[in-house]
Formats: sequence, C-alpha cells, structure tokens
Amino acid sequence: MPDPLFPKLGDGAAKEALRFGDHTLTYAELAAVAGGLARELPRDRVAVWATPTVHTSVAVVAALLAGVAAVPLNPKIGERELAHILSDCEPALVLAEPGAELPEGLAALPRRDIPLTGGDAGTWEEPDPETPALIVYTSGTTGPPKGVVLPRRALATTLDALEDAWGWTGGDVLVHALPLFHVHGLILGILGPLRRGGSVRHLGRFSTDGVARELANGATMLFGVPTMYHRIAGEVGENPELAGALRGARLLVSGSAALPVRDHQRITEATGQQVVERYGMTETLMNTSVRADGERKPGTVGVPLRGVELRLVGDAGEVIDDVDAVGEIQVRGPNLFTEYLNRPDATAAAFDGGWFRTGDMATRDADGYIRIVGRKATDLIKSGGYKIGAGEIENALLEHPGVAEAAVTGEPDDDLGERIVAWIVPSGEPPAAEELADHVAKLLAPHKRPRVVRYLDALPRNDMGKVMKRALGA
Ligand code: ATP
Ligand code: MG
Repeated sequence: MPDPLFPKLGDGAAKEALRFGDHTLTYAELAAVAGGLARELPRDRVAVWATPTVHTSVAVVAALLAGVAAVPLNPKIGERELAHILSDCEPALVLAEPGAELPEGLAALPRRDIPLTGGDAGTWEEPDPETPALIVYTSGTTGPPKGVVLPRRALATTLDALEDAWGWTGGDVLVHALPLFHVHGLILGILGPLRRGGSVRHLGRFSTDGVARELANGATMLFGVPTMYHRIAGEVGENPELAGALRGARLLVSGSAALPVRDHQRITEATGQQVVERYGMTETLMNTSVRADGERKPGTVGVPLRGVELRLVGDAGEVIDDVDAVGEIQVRGPNLFTEYLNRPDATAAAFDGGWFRTGDMATRDADGYIRIVGRKATDLIKSGGYKIGAGEIENALLEHPGVAEAAVTGEPDDDLGERIVAWIVPSGEPPAAEELADHVAKLLAPHKRPRVVRYLDALPRNDMGKVMKRALGA
C-alpha cells in the first residue's frame, strides 16, 4: 500500500486545517468537501483557477485524492501565457471559486464551481507514487514557462525532508501570504501543513500587521519570499508589536529568491531571530535548507536535505570539491520531477546522466553550507577575465544607505567582454554613480565595481517578488 499523501485527513478531527479570512475548514470538513468533489472529477487533468482562497486548497486536495493531475493557474495570467498553457496541458475542465470571472480561453472549458460545504469523506485508494500529482508551470524568469510534471513521490519526499530539517510537526500553525500556483505557496504552504496535520492561516494579502497578529495569536511559523522579509526588515525596528511577535515565532523561513544579507541582519537585530533560508525550484522541489537545529548562516541556503544528493560542476563538466569554488548546482534524488510536459528535448537537455542541471551557480563552505551566487544565465558576469556573481555586488550595494533596492546585470563591453551594470532604486536623494562604484570596490574588489549605474523607481518583479532580469536586458 503506497504512503498516503494526507495520512491525517481521514482522522475526522474537529481541528482547524485551513483558515482564509472568514472561511475556515476543519480536517473533518475538508475531508468531506474535498472527498465529495473528488468523486465528481473526470479522470483527466483539471485546471484550478488558483486564487489565494480556501477554494483553491479544496480543489487541489480533491484532485490529489482522486489521483487526477491538477494544473494551478495564476489568476492574473495574461492572455498569451494562458493560451500557451491551455494548449500545452489540455485540461478536461476548470475548477473555480463560485462567482470568479474567468478569462475567455478558460471560459470555453467545462467549469465546476468549488464547494465549501457538504460532501462525504469516504475512503480512497492511494494511487501509485509515480502518478502525476501536479503540473506546475515555472515562473518564466528565464524563458516561457514550462509545465513541470510532479509525481506524488516528489511531493511526499520533499515535505518529509522539510519535516526532518525544520522539526515541522502537526502542532505548527503556519502564517501564509503567498500565491497558490507555485511550489512555495501551494506545496510547502498548503500541502505541507495538511500532510503533518497542522494548520494554515492565509492572510489573503501580505501585511506586516497580519503577520504580527497571527504570530501573536498562536501561529508558530512564517513562510515568505524576500520581498516580504524586506518589508518586515524595514518596519521591525520601529514596530514593537511586530518585533515581539516575530521573537515568539518558532521558525521564519525564506525562499524563492535570495534574501539580502542586510534584511537578515536587520531582522536579527530587532528580534533575535535568524531567518532560515531554503533553496528549491519547481523541477526539484526543495534541495537545501538551513536546519532548525543546526548553525544558522545568513547568506547561505544551508545543506542538502535528507535524500538529496548535490554536486557542483565546473564548465568542463568536472565535479568541484574545493571549498568556496564556484560551480553549477546539480541534484539527484526522489524529490525530482518526472519531465517537462510535451518537451522531451528540454527534459533531456536538463539532465546530465541522472543529475538535474539547476542552472544555479554556488559555492560550498568547509561545513558543507551552500551559498548561491546566482543563475548561470543572468547572474554570472564575465568581465575582464573574471567570473563575477551578481548577488555579491547586490548585497554590497544594499549596504549603502542611499540604496533601497539593487539588481546587477552584465552588458556587452568591447574591452571587458561584459561590464557590470547596477540598477538602483534610491532610498532618497540618488547617490552618485562614482560613489556607489567606490563603495563596492572598497567592500569587495576593484574589478567588481559597477561601470554603469541606472536609477529606477522600482525593480521589475514577478508575482513572487523575483527580479525579472530579462526585463533589465540580462
Ligand atoms: P523559469 O524556470 O521559468 O525561468 P524560475 O526558475 O524563476 O523560472 P522557479 O522554479 O519558481 O522558476 O524558481 C526556482 C529558482 O529560484 C531557482 O532555480 C533559483 O534560481 C531561485 N531560488 C529559489 N530559492 C532561492 C534562494 N533561497 N536563494 C536564491 N535563489 C533561489
Ligand atoms: Mg527555473
């Protein structure tokens, strides 16, 4: 009998499982309503209009009970991307919150409104662990989104490895404010607590007040992306309620992009807490994390999770074992996806033997902690014979008081090959380019000085707060 994804769902408990604003569902209610919906689903894959609501959670749990692959869709998706995804995955129907207005491409599909009451839990036979559970489209940071086919095995593996790393239990209550159409918000943020028998409180929209309120009222964990922790870092020094609530949390976790060291430090200064960073991606789910019971090293993403093999590989394909040498992260393990939907070429190109090429560059310190340098495609600048990681320069720029946000890219240069460009959102009067360049050169090294500084009102970011470096010409 395969391991059930939700061993706690059938307990019929009166314990609260999900709370989204005024909508709450106990484990017993969730089992009934999702069970009822599961029995009505077709055997083919279904699309889920993934608004940040309890409805989306019910729909995904129903599909998982039925063994039908669910495709969560970003409710802010553009027409062209939606058309691409629908022709790619051809869902049999769309599950949506009652009253939600669907765009044209989706309105043509059969629709089933997601119920929140009634139903009947029943019993479920657990599908084979290799059955596709979810098809999640990548963020499209580096190219058109690809449909990542995730088997049940990968979900169970990653969630259990996080239990091991974080001491995650059914007693944890998670504060959640992320979208539900990516791995972070959906798999970690909803399925994680449900697998453990814990509870989720979703804020709908992120706010520092919401975080403070929930943590002061029994919540134990916060999952966030760096833009959220940046907001917290900016307020926590002057907001004693927020500082007190964060101080009382069991675990603050950041992921999806690099958390600037300055934000780490500010939060620690005001609360004594060290944010735990973890690193993952749609294709591999979670790869590494700082462990709750281990040494916290800000600026690193910790160590490989249980079951995950990780190696760093150089340009010539050689495995790099030297401390602090840069290589591409490759991973192998039961946390990996099956394939890119309809893209055998892309799937084949993504693997080196059984190892998945993440496209992320990193170093490893003497204790085995991984420090991400950036993406091979957009964050590694080849300038004057050096390979320079954008992240390090971004962190240095952020240490300048006149810099609120920073992104670094490379652009073609006749002399240097590429020159370093700093994109700056100033915090007040914009600091002069020369001053910023000297600041970086002094902190890091002269060859890391930005040659060009461009000032912006805001950095281009996607819905997870990731900087879209393609929009900056990278
Ligand atoms: P696409 O693959 O479509 O270009 P994407 O790679 O942004 O988009 P995701 O799978 O959502 O889509 O994101 C995974 C990537 O996010 C990783 O490859 C890595 O570059 C980045 N990332 C995730 N967590 C961290 C972290 N803690 N620190 C630095 N980068 C991270
Ligand atoms: Mg990617």
